[in-house]
Amino acid sequence: MPEFMELKRETMVHPEGVLKDVFGLPSFRGQQGDIIRHVVDGGDAVVLLPTGAGKSLCYQIPALCREGVGIVVSPLIALMRDQVEALRQSGVRAAALNSTLTPEEAQAIRIELAAGRLDLLYVTPERLVSDGFMGLLSRLQPALFAIDEAHCISQWGHDFRPEYLQLAMLKERFPGVPRLALTATADPQTRDDLIHRLQLDDARVFSASFDRPNIRYTIVRKDNAKTQLKEFLRAHKDASGIVYCLSRKKVEETAEWLTAQGIKALPYHAGLDRSVRDANQDAFLKDEGPVLVATIAFGMGIDKPDVRFVAHLDLPSSIEAYYQETGRAGRDGLPSDAWMAYGMGDLTLRRRMIDEAASPEDVKQVERAKLDALLGVCETTACRRQTLLAHFGEHHAGGCGNCDTCLSPSETWDGTEAARKALSAIYRTGQRFGAGHVIDVLRGNKTEKVERFGHDGLPTFGVGKDIDVKGWQSVFRQLAARGIIAADHAAFGALKLEEKARPILQGQEPVEFRRDLAPTGRRRQAKGGDIEISASPEDEALFQALRSERLRLAREQGVPPFVILHDTSLREMARRKPSALDEMTDIPGVGGAKIARYGEAFLAVVAQHG
Ligand code: ADP
Ligand code: ZN
Repeated sequence: MPEFMELKRETMVHPEGVLKDVFGLPSFRGQQGDIIRHVVDGGDAVVLLPTGAGKSLCYQIPALCREGVGIVVSPLIALMRDQVEALRQSGVRAAALNSTLTPEEAQAIRIELAAGRLDLLYVTPERLVSDGFMGLLSRLQPALFAIDEAHCISQWGHDFRPEYLQLAMLKERFPGVPRLALTATADPQTRDDLIHRLQLDDARVFSASFDRPNIRYTIVRKDNAKTQLKEFLRAHKDASGIVYCLSRKKVEETAEWLTAQGIKALPYHAGLDRSVRDANQDAFLKDEGPVLVATIAFGMGIDKPDVRFVAHLDLPSSIEAYYQETGRAGRDGLPSDAWMAYGMGDLTLRRRMIDEAASPEDVKQVERAKLDALLGVCETTACRRQTLLAHFGEHHAGGCGNCDTCLSPSETWDGTEAARKALSAIYRTGQRFGAGHVIDVLRGNKTEKVERFGHDGLPTFGVGKDIDVKGWQSVFRQLAARGIIAADHAAFGALKLEEKARPILQGQEPVEFRRDLAPTGRRRQAKGGDIEISASPEDEALFQALRSERLRLAREQGVPPFVILHDTSLREMARRKPSALDEMTDIPGVGGAKIARYGEAFLAVVAQHG
């Protein structure tokens, strides 16, 4: 076992004392204080808070305040590793038991555990419920059980793990030991299900808004996705971020293309060799490969706090998936971007994936509804945040000032006439052609195909010259997003009219369209004053110098930089410019152990910049 920095064990009684001395934080955030006191007093809790809210402290502090070791059940080994490392850096006696350990290493941890020399132990669910481990624990009377990512117990959720089901037995096996279930999963079904399955019906439920005010949502019309991505990345030079693609092939192509453009990008998908995948994930965590291009195989359990952006080159399957994936940005509360390029091809592809899947029809119905809800977010002219939160049953007044529709309000236009022309052109060409040809007909282009089918003789030929090709593409996309038309996969994407088209064709129903903005539309300045970083050039330079020092220190130990100090702490340090160790104690995130270890090194950087 490694050497631990000696913590002042006598401060370990009061949650506030632990918060300050161990974690270097001045005050609790939101309901943290209430949750922690409730658990310290022996209560069970269900903690439903969004990513980045600070759920970890809700079990870490009670574990330090109560007698005995706190047991943390976590599904992911990468997550355990980083959490344990971060705790050790703060002087906490933490360890993780999982399948990556040699038998000797595992035995060493069991000895520490049995001797009462651990404050926190992270375990996978399968380890926890193994006979040997249960026997050992029952002789110890643990301080608490924290069940992280508790939604994994629910089949409703997207990350169901059968091993989680066995955790129900903790209630009977360890009466009197407080249990906390924690998750950032928002939907009510999953919540109810996990409370029920974990037998936490009597637990106090703590929940808060799922809004992530520091994340800026932007959904652009897909034009030339790679170039658009490159343009977007320009504003995020050297920042850590994830680019999601649907397929493995696209992941690889995109990573290669970005690299060729001089942007450090690494691929991640389940088809890569395990060692390559792990190495790329590690480089990402250690800030050595800032952009990770990935399929959704990547991300669950990654709690890197300083992911500055999540970009989607393909449409996710639902709002839940979109919110979870984008939620990986900005855990540290600093301004972050959720950016997506979306076009007609995306929605056709997603519909097709549902149609062609082997699932039963009722499942498909649910999936279609979920996709439609997400398309609604893509096509809305209202505040994106308001639309997203409404999906989770949460009211937001709108006008958030930190999404694209708020920053550059998009106009609507009366598309009744255009819609009729478009639908009529689809109908008259026999519902056998894709958007490209129908647009040629509308715009009166005498292409070879138009002449071959005699479409230049149709009454709709040339009636849409007033709208350019992009404009028509936008019309077709919006008609498809609303289910007024659909692409027939069996007929190579031929557009067909749906039932909803009838009243529009007959002129009985008006249609409003969203005016697509040019991909580089000018933006208004964001509101959200408290999260905007307004560093002076000198402070910014010092911040970058502190980051380099942190990277050096992290490499020395082979750990991710964020376990040493978070960006939020370095930003504050750059602002305050401490000249002595005791001036560091008030910087959030700089606890006693961190000052002892790294104080001098950072002071030297500040002094050099003085
Ligand atoms: P969650 O598990 O809810 O996603 P974390 O526990 O990872 O969130 O915490 C997110 C970030 O918030 C971390 O950078 C953490 O240091 C910071 N944090 C948590 N509690 C506080 C607090 N009381 N004051 C300041 N920062 C906090
Ligand atoms: Zn908004």
